[in-house]
Amino acid sequence: MISFVVGHGIIPYLHTFYAAPIVEHGKLTAIIIEYKNGRGAIRGRQFIDATGDADLALHLQLPSFEPETLQPPTTCAKIQGLNSLGNFNWQQAIREHGVEFGLDPDWGWGGPIPRLPDVELRVDTHVFDCDTSGSQLSRAEIEGRCQVRAIMDLIRKYGPADANMTLVDLAATIGARETKRIVASYRLSEEDVLHGHWFEDAIANGSYRVNIHHANGPGITFRYLDGAEVVIPERGVEPVKKRWRDPVDTNPTFYQIPRRYLLQDRIPNLVLAGRMLDADKTAFSAARVMVNMNQTGEAAGVACALAINEGIPIQSADPAAIRKALAEGGSIIV
Ligand SMILES: Cc1cc2nc3c(=O)[nH]c(=O)nc-3n(C[C@H](O)[C@H](O)[C@H](O)COP(=O)(O)OP(=O)(O)OC[C@H]3O[C@@H](n4cnc5c(N)ncnc54)[C@H](O)[C@@H]3O)c2cc1C
Repeated sequence: MISFVVGHGIIPYLHTFYAAPIVEHGKLTAIIIEYKNGRGAIRGRQFIDATGDADLALHLQLPSFEPETLQPPTTCAKIQGLNSLGNFNWQQAIREHGVEFGLDPDWGWGGPIPRLPDVELRVDTHVFDCDTSGSQLSRAEIEGRCQVRAIMDLIRKYGPADANMTLVDLAATIGARETKRIVASYRLSEEDVLHGHWFEDAIANGSYRVNIHHANGPGITFRYLDGAEVVIPERGVEPVKKRWRDPVDTNPTFYQIPRRYLLQDRIPNLVLAGRMLDADKTAFSAARVMVNMNQTGEAAGVACALAINEGIPIQSADPAAIRKALAEGGSIIV
């Protein structure tokens, strides 16, 4: 990736924060940045907002919406030595003793990290009732870290005395799952995702299930394209299996995100990418994952390059040309 950036004349600005837009005659002409040198500006012909929280689009006052409830953010941790706990069921112990350590009932998951045999990525925390895109971010950051600390303390108190367990890493920032979203030229719907609709201007394919972390309490709901639904109510509690629809002969295996999602009609030279996705609650909960958002980012870059090369507004860039360029770059285009 580094050689790709450096070898293609791209000038990276690491450790640099986008701060504000500059709009002249209805067109976005530059962005203000904050970096080690102080304040600066970067001019451009095309801009992509890929900030997750839609910082640029919101500062430009593009129409936005926030679902009634937001999926809660999580502080991830890497923990070494959980194997040394032996048969001690630490998830059950959190369930039994969490209150003593200030932990609300919750649910979490984790897994091994390739080539780090004794280290697990753990995703055991949630900060409820919190919008991480604004002034509540600091509270969330502190609360998420405190939850990790509480889990470590709890396991040390109730786990085997000879366990050899260490917190080796905390995520640099708390991870936001869902914040404000921008109204685009198309809103992806539950029907589009769960019934696997195809679009002529599709720029991304996704097969990830609907994955809703419950907003104000423990648990998670999964909905699969084959009609199955699984709800995990709380850690240590058996999952509840049901169906959101009866089986059909031809189950869809994937859904698509159309190019129209990248576009809005207020600022002609701004493209949207990532989890500011215009989608209803259910569609968002499937589409928001990395493999899908990566594809929207790539499509946004390709669309901007085509528009610049042809000297046309991004809205006029031919969807077929974008899909062709993506396919030539190795993307699966159906
Ligand atoms: C705890 C957690 C676990 C998850 N687990 C999974 C999983 O297992 N599998 C999966 O596929 N997905 C998972 N997801 C979802 C997925 O990670 C995100 O939805 C996805 O990464 C969003 O992509 P994005 O590009 O829109 O935003 P991000 O990946 O958040 O990228 C936005 C980038 O913009 C930067 N940025 C933001 N504001 C500014 C600014 N003003 N100036 C400069 N830079 C800025 C940020 O630092 C960040 O690097 C998880 C999410 C969370 C929070």
